[in-house]
Amino acid sequence: MGLFSWNCMVCKHPMLHNMGVVTPGVNEWMNRVVVLEKNGSILRGPYDGYGRVGMTEMKMEWKDHKMINGPECYHEACYKAVGSPTEYTRASLHSIDQGHFFSDGAHDLKEKDIPDAIKKIKKPLKTWKIKKKAV
Ligand SMILES: [Zn+2]
Repeated sequence: MGLFSWNCMVCKHPMLHNMGVVTPGVNEWMNRVVVLEKNGSILRGPYDGYGRVGMTEMKMEWKDHKMINGPECYHEACYKAVGSPTEYTRASLHSIDQGHFFSDGAHDLKEKDIPDAIKKIKKPLKTWKIKKKAV
């Protein structure tokens, strides 16, 4: 099986592996992730591009060749920005570019710009606690 990934629930960029696709100072933070699983487990660590977070294999359930109860994925920084939710809500979308085959600049979001990404979300999940700054 080749490389694969899911998009972060917050910034919509994929979890990135750390074998040459991240750019230091720009998006290397997208390698550190938090994954909520349907069974209640919470995985934290670097994503390896092949379904492992740290040393742990993500749980994948299949039915009629479709994945069911897929993982709810976050970059660690995005996860903290929405209040570190612990309750599983729904599966993340598969990354069309597999978190690997993308052009330069496609995932150039800096960690400091996460709050702007959050502002663009139309329907935040109920489990999130987003701090609203007074303007
Ligand atoms: Zn993110």
